[in-house]
Amino acid sequence: MANLELVFYIAVVLVSSVICFCGHWPIFEGTPIHALNYYCTGGIFELLEKCVGFTCGERGLRAIYCVEHYCCERPNPILQIFYFTIVGGAYFAAMTTSFKYIPGPYLSAIHWYLGTGSVVMGLLLFLLTSFSDPGFVSSSNVSDYLAMFPYDGVLYEEKICSTCNIPRPPRSKHCSICGHCVARFDHHCGWTVRFLSHMDYDWSKSKEYLHRGE
Ligand SMILES: [Zn+2]
Ligand SMILES: [Zn+2]
Repeated sequence: MANLELVFYIAVVLVSSVICFCGHWPIFEGTPIHALNYYCTGGIFELLEKCVGFTCGERGLRAIYCVEHYCCERPNPILQIFYFTIVGGAYFAAMTTSFKYIPGPYLSAIHWYLGTGSVVMGLLLFLLTSFSDPGFVSSSNVSDYLAMFPYDGVLYEEKICSTCNIPRPPRSKHCSICGHCVARFDHHCGWTVRFLSHMDYDWSKSKEYLHRGE
């Protein structure tokens, strides 16, 4: 029975990994794996839009866009809590189902520590990404950023941010969600709430690699 459980668990992990990470490959075009990948990676929202549009009309659609805007494009911790719930829930599920097989005939005790360590490290990097300064440009540090990223007069000419009312260093952008100019702005990341630019890249990339490997 225990072996059957293990085989089932491995099969579920394998199938879901293929669906999530490889389902968009051309080789799966036209197969249920491709369709499932589509629904897992955004298609579900389109389906929800269609269902709500069909049943509740324009008013219903406006309501879901409003919720989406509030959850993903406003500075609040909803996505962070969601992320912690997913990772914590997945770890709890693994702990209560598969961790009892460690150590076992196929896995040594080190896998228990590796599994737990990668989850803890991933969450730690997530917190570091969320709470570190992404490079907010303010009147007190704008001269440092201008020295770091000088105007070249070709691609980057002197500009003033009309909201912050300070010079905008090359490659920086005003983030309308955070309400600040951010140096070498990449994109605003809803998962980490306020911030993501070059300053967070090391933490953020490390976290992504870790959690993809989990
Ligand atoms: Zn932002
Ligand atoms: Zn600004």
